[in-house]
Amino acid sequence: MRNKIPYKRVLLKVSGQIFAGDRGVGISNEALKFISKEIVDALRETRVEMGIVVGGGNIVRGTESAEIGIDRVTADYMGMLATVINSLALQSVLEDMGVRTNLLSALEMTEIAEPYVRKKAISHLEKGRVVLFSCGTGNPFFSTDTAAALRAAEIEADVVLKATRVEGVYSSDPLKDPEAKKLDTLDYDRMLRENLGIVDATAAALCRENRMPLIVFNFMKPGNLLRVLKGETIGTLVKGGKEGS
Ligand code: UDP
Repeated sequence: MRNKIPYKRVLLKVSGQIFAGDRGVGISNEALKFISKEIVDALRETRVEMGIVVGGGNIVRGTESAEIGIDRVTADYMGMLATVINSLALQSVLEDMGVRTNLLSALEMTEIAEPYVRKKAISHLEKGRVVLFSCGTGNPFFSTDTAAALRAAEIEADVVLKATRVEGVYSSDPLKDPEAKKLDTLDYDRMLRENLGIVDATAAALCRENRMPLIVFNFMKPGNLLRVLKGETIGTLVKGGKEGS
């Protein structure tokens, strides 16, 4: 079975929205269990090395700083701290399910997370531990999508897997345009030129620069993470070069 898996090392990005589940904000118990079970099931069957970048938008989003009356940089640090809250929750449930994990943080908080050190992250992955990357890039004005692109390049992942609640990337906004089509493949140039959303421009540019493929897929369908890891063509595959359809 292991031989058929096309990836050795992957970087999974799970946004805060997925942690919130139907509640929309905060952490939903069911969502947390669902995320953990999907990860554990996929790992048991494929044994890939997995790093996970956890978002924080279910708790604080820096771009909403004006609404909460806080300056942008402070709100961004709050957002980064929010990713630690989600990561601690995920770590706890994954460990309960028998998966060994290491929580790393781009901002120092040594009581609860190891400082991010690239070589340590790679060493944990090589030992079969799941590495949770928290606090994004550690800098304001960035996103956890960009952190996913950055960490994926640093750990030399084979692919970034962006877990979403939609089927993939569409040619236009399917909520506004009845003609919108889901794209099976796409290149970063088009993604950036047509502003096709899903990941921000900085993340897309970084992936393009490092020739890092990205798969955008619906994480909410049970078994989809496993399907992606097995190389099944679901979601949208984004890469450099020309688009395939
Ligand atoms: N953030 C940041 N720098 C980073 C990553 C995240 O300042 O490198 C802040 C930013 O305010 C962002 C928040 O953390 O809005 C939560 O991250 P993000 O919005 O990417 O989470 P997601 O949408 O994936 O839940």
